[in-house]
Amino acid sequence: MKILVLNSGSSSQKSALFELDRKSSAEPVAPLWEGKLDWDVDHEVLSITNSSGNRIHTNSKVSSDGRQASVERLLRNLWSGPTAVLQSATEIHSAGHRIVHGGAKLTQPVMVTSEVKRAIADLSAIAPLHNQAGLEGIALIEKLLPSVPQIAVFDTGFHRTLPAAAKTYAGPYDWYERGIRRFGFHGINHEYCANRVMQLLGRDPKNLRIISCHLGNGCSLAAIDGGKSIDTTMGFTPLEGLMMGTRAGSIDPGILTHLLRTKYAGEHDLDAILNHKSGLLGISGISNDMRDILEATRNGIERAKLAFDIFIHRLCSEIAAMAASLGGFDVLVFTAGIGENSAEVRAAACTQLKFLGIEFDPAKNATVKPDAQISVPGSNVDVWVIRAQEDWSIARECVRMSEQGRS
Ligand code: ADP
Repeated sequence: MKILVLNSGSSSQKSALFELDRKSSAEPVAPLWEGKLDWDVDHEVLSITNSSGNRIHTNSKVSSDGRQASVERLLRNLWSGPTAVLQSATEIHSAGHRIVHGGAKLTQPVMVTSEVKRAIADLSAIAPLHNQAGLEGIALIEKLLPSVPQIAVFDTGFHRTLPAAAKTYAGPYDWYERGIRRFGFHGINHEYCANRVMQLLGRDPKNLRIISCHLGNGCSLAAIDGGKSIDTTMGFTPLEGLMMGTRAGSIDPGILTHLLRTKYAGEHDLDAILNHKSGLLGISGISNDMRDILEATRNGIERAKLAFDIFIHRLCSEIAAMAASLGGFDVLVFTAGIGENSAEVRAAACTQLKFLGIEFDPAKNATVKPDAQISVPGSNVDVWVIRAQEDWSIARECVRMSEQGRS
């Protein structure tokens, strides 16, 4: 069956079409078609590739008819134009959506109903940019493919097993009662990476303690014990934890009250500062992209080097915190854009964490092609680089749900 996956971000829309059925192997497969739209202030970049190697790449001014119209044009390339892989839209069996925030109730993949849409909309107060984009994707499929069942998969869902001590903030208890608690994010990929590494190692998941490092534009860690998330660095929102491309990660909350009190910033400014003007970009003043930070560091630019050093300092502190929650760990996984591609970041973190029993092979680390191991034989901790496969994971959930629906 052909499954369409929509992965809506605050400034991007990814989409992929997979051919899967219930007999498909547990090995991830490449999509038949993959498209992406990236928006900045006034530009829109469209890139599409299909399994025959046909491509479309355009860079244009943001169109006046809005993002949803652009996404509709993107999807029409599935059945028309040079990248078409379908005779008609009716070949699509179901559509899966990555929804960033599922809150306390939406912890498992679900069929999209009006009740589910309402619950996702209610959570927009916590994740305004992301959940709204997810709802727009759902509305677009309703319009384009009205008879296609839709499935929502939640990035918070995997962290449903966090114990009380890890999910409760040490504020007044009524925060928890009001729903202010740690949720954690990137769960679709953390769960996939844990399953993938267990599969590659051929070990019983029950006996494995894994720290998964999702290092992309957003960055988070998960501590996974016997296949279950027991701690994670992101919190009530995707702002907490590690330093990220444009997000600060954890900072002293006293800074915020100080900024408000001294009128350096209002509440809306704080949102923009913490989400868009901090992290690698905020410190370096150059870029939110780790590749630019590394190049500027090689060129001797001090603030770029500082940005890199803070990134590694925060990463190592938080890996050690996850190790403490797990009472030791067996596997360290690097995944997502930086985790998969930056040998420098992996080498710096593994070198600093040698005291935790990590011994990596510098030659393997420099040339690794995921999915592969970069630790030396005999290292107390196995270190793996695993390619993120969020879209394929969502497509698999769609197959599983449709099988459930039939039985
Ligand atoms: P998203 O969170 O948007 O899905 P990705 O997982 O694609 O992001 O990660 C994007 C980040 O990956 C980029 O901002 C860039 O910093 C980093 N990245 C990609 N390729 C490399 C590379 N070769 N070396 C270092 N960093 C890289």
